[in-house]
Amino acid sequence: MHELGIAQSVLDAVQAEAATRNSKPVKVGLRIGELSAIDPDALRFSFEALTAETDLQGLTLDIEFCRRRHRCLDCATEFEVKDFIFDCPQCGTNRNECISGEELQLAYVELEEYEPSTA
Ligand SMILES: [Zn+2]
Repeated sequence: MHELGIAQSVLDAVQAEAATRNSKPVKVGLRIGELSAIDPDALRFSFEALTAETDLQGLTLDIEFCRRRHRCLDCATEFEVKDFIFDCPQCGTNRNECISGEELQLAYVELEEYEPSTA
């Protein structure tokens, strides 16, 4: 289950981000592509297992699942690939390139900002 390793590196990145800003992370957004071979449920499960009973318990994981998209090399139309049909819906050619679907990105980290001390 490689999701556990991925969850761990995401948490490492979140903690590093929180440390530099001296605040507590409350929510983390991840972008996962259809082609990345990551099971979002397994990732969610790993994430919860790793944060349970730690400082990060209760941290929300927000997963954005990205469908496979291609761009036509002839007319530049961008389209979602379904059922392995790679023909351009606009002009019908099959000359196109993959532009998304392989993402594994940390989209954002939401931090709880502490009120600046007035003392
Ligand atoms: Zn086209």
